[in-house]
Amino acid sequence: MKLRTPESFWLLKNGILHSYPSLNEDSSCDIAVLGAGITGALISHALLRAGYDTVVIDRRDVGTGSSSATTSMLQYEIDTPLTQLAEMIGEEGAVTCYRAGIESIRTLHALVEKEQIDCGFELKQSLQVSHSTKGIASLKEEYLLRKKHGFQVEWLTSEEIGQRYQMASHPGILSAAGASLDAFQFAHRLLYRNQQRGLRIYDHTDILKIDYQGPVVIETDGGYRLTCKRVVFCTGFETVKMFRKKIADIVTTFALVSEQELNLYDQLKDTLIWDTGDPYIYMRTTDDRRLLIGGEDVPHKYNGFTDKLKNKKANTLIAKVRQLFPTIRFTEDYNWAGAFGNTKDGLPYIGEHPDFPNAIFVLGFGGNGITFSVQGMRLVLKLLAREQNDPLLTHYRFNR
Ligand SMILES: Cc1cc2nc3c(=O)[nH]c(=O)nc-3n(C[C@H](O)[C@H](O)[C@H](O)COP(=O)(O)OP(=O)(O)OC[C@H]3O[C@@H](n4cnc5c(N)ncnc54)[C@H](O)[C@@H]3O)c2cc1C
Repeated sequence: MKLRTPESFWLLKNGILHSYPSLNEDSSCDIAVLGAGITGALISHALLRAGYDTVVIDRRDVGTGSSSATTSMLQYEIDTPLTQLAEMIGEEGAVTCYRAGIESIRTLHALVEKEQIDCGFELKQSLQVSHSTKGIASLKEEYLLRKKHGFQVEWLTSEEIGQRYQMASHPGILSAAGASLDAFQFAHRLLYRNQQRGLRIYDHTDILKIDYQGPVVIETDGGYRLTCKRVVFCTGFETVKMFRKKIADIVTTFALVSEQELNLYDQLKDTLIWDTGDPYIYMRTTDDRRLLIGGEDVPHKYNGFTDKLKNKKANTLIAKVRQLFPTIRFTEDYNWAGAFGNTKDGLPYIGEHPDFPNAIFVLGFGGNGITFSVQGMRLVLKLLAREQNDPLLTHYRFNR
């Protein structure tokens, strides 16, 4: 599956930070982690710290899947509003999932600090605005439900939004919890650091076949075998092809960055902004003083990655930003497109699947893939310890 267009910003900005050998001999380990994007980096970190002899394998260069195309907004608000999620899985469950989002932003922040990972991590507030007059009432309901459950939220009127952000918008919810980072850089740096601690990493190694009956035997395109006790799939959106039942809708999503030194940088630098229209638009600043915008999703087809559509969508996003910020001087530097998987409830799939014994999946689909992957660190250790008692494992299970 094509995961993105070639010119994803983070890859252009950073280049390939580290290269690893391909697997070139038969080998064995406790746990094989397939996929070396941000999910594989986080999960292998947790496994290594827990004392598992761990091997990471990727068919591409490390980090060059979706993790090089992401806009990396870390929000606790998932794609499904708390009010709707409460209808789907009950209020208690919905609140648990939302709180887990806040906890994972804290966990990631602590990890970045502890490991001193240079990845542009910035704590931010998160502003979610109504796209239309019609949408205000339901957003207010959302605000009240979050407030009832102790989330740190503030209701901002159009005037207040105008004063703080020079933004012409309907009212919205300002939340205290949020952050952003360069996920590509983070994944590279964490993997590299853990390689120094004994993590074995192989890139450009494709998997031809897996025998899941214990011990798990993974056959690679080079003709080698990796034997392990368990395999953890951190293989991103491509994983949808493995399942008989559809688990997500794949869409193409679009993103672009402005030139540096954006004129409204100081007003916008501390806040993630999300206009809840359909199609939605969201934005944040980068640590090198640009505005990063995303949205305009369309169903995923090959032509989603053509220059023509990509440029057209970039222009639409720019026009929307100019409407929202009448005083902005926005000049595009790069635009790109990527595949993106949406689940029916906005929640990820983290757990075991009956068709694949001895495998665990960490599939952080939806707009909060990164915070879901952070939650996967703890949940994978629980699954390996055969502790099924975490409510998130119920909410994130397959066949739910
Ligand atoms: C434009 C865009 C904007 C986004 N914005 C946000 C956002 O604001 N916030 C957010 O949280 N998320 C966002 N996402 C989603 C986020 O990017 C993903 O959740 C995240 O990058 C997934 O990381 P990953 O490591 O699971 O997948 P990937 O980075 O795709 O890594 C998976 C890796 O697995 C490898 N692989 C796959 N199959 C195999 C195999 N069989 N054998 C070996 N290796 C294999 C691939 O080569 C790849 O490197 C966005 C995504 C896009 C495209």
